[in-house]
Amino acid sequence: MSQLLRIENLSAAAEDKELLHGVSLTVPEGETHVVMGHNGAGKSTLGAVIMGSPEYRVTGGSIFFAGEDITSLPADKRARLGLFLSFQSPIEIPGITVSEFLRNALEQITGKRMKLWDFKKKLAAAMELLDMDKSYAERDLNVGFSGGEKKKAEILQLLILRPRLAILDETDSGLDVDAVKTVSKGIAEYLKNGGSLLIITHNTRLLESIKVDRTHIISDGRIAAEGDASLIDEVIENGFEKYTDRE
Ligand code: ADP
Ligand code: MG
Repeated sequence: MSQLLRIENLSAAAEDKELLHGVSLTVPEGETHVVMGHNGAGKSTLGAVIMGSPEYRVTGGSIFFAGEDITSLPADKRARLGLFLSFQSPIEIPGITVSEFLRNALEQITGKRMKLWDFKKKLAAAMELLDMDKSYAERDLNVGFSGGEKKKAEILQLLILRPRLAILDETDSGLDVDAVKTVSKGIAEYLKNGGSLLIITHNTRLLESIKVDRTHIISDGRIAAEGDASLIDEVIENGFEKYTDRE
């Protein structure tokens, strides 16, 4: 299986502070990987650096995506190659509806504007799968959305854009049981179509219904441990403490 994402010895800083110190990690195509770690470990930073956020500066190492060195590529070019990052705190965009936002995002990535009728059909099908009321398509993006609704909007984005690799930076805010089920259903649909996932999470309930191929524990900006899905259970039982003493 080809390595879709390969991170080699990656270090990154914000302003003058180094936050990632030599992180290496690979995600083969079609796999689901999980990144866990204590608060402030550097999980969101890692996601942002993979996506090319201008907030961070790469100070060492490389990021390869689908065989291409993307370390210095701007975020929009990475998106066009098929990388996707959901935000821990999704932005609200007054004046742009969910439907317009997604149609524009799709156009930016594919370079083609879908016919409105075709797009609406595609959108309606994905919304139905996520048990979203049709009216959400015409609401301003994330404005006044509840936590669960924002999360659904994010998964909707995943189903419409169909990136090759999606990095989901989970909110820790509690999704209710139904929302977790719906989100899991959306993720399963995405994976069924050949997607790959890097899930950054504390929300282990979401992981119960997803087949995890590999788990990476990050601590103080370093990979502290790696293993299969059983590492998640180990962490649930024992916490992150044993990983935080490492230099
Ligand atoms: P996690 O997602 O694992 O909880 P983060 O990646 O958000 O952790 O943050 C890791 C560390 O980096 C924290 O100490 C945080 O304060 C710091 N950090 C993150 N982004 C910035 C930034 N833009 N400027 C300065 N420090 C930052
Ligand atoms: Mg975070």
